[in-house]
Amino acid sequence: MSNEATVKFVSIWDEGTKIRANSKYNPETKEISDVQEMNVDGLEVLEQEYIELPNGARLEVCQNCHRHTLVLVMRSIEVLECPICDA
Ligand SMILES: [Zn+2]
Repeated sequence: MSNEATVKFVSIWDEGTKIRANSKYNPETKEISDVQEMNVDGLEVLEQEYIELPNGARLEVCQNCHRHTLVLVMRSIEVLECPICDA
């Protein structure tokens, strides 16, 4: 059985232009897949990316690979890391 959920992939560009696309998310591997094609013509600066879960929770997306959500790593300070990219 797959644990994949259908989520919204949200990216915020330039001065707040918000683009939403359907995607799939596997909470076990933190991997985002099947992101619907987005029209980003004319947009230049990617400011933020997150996914929105069906319960409304937002998870920050790795700015390097754009395909994983960041996971909280417990240390002396709280650090968010991508499971596949080096911090
Ligand atoms: Zn990454």
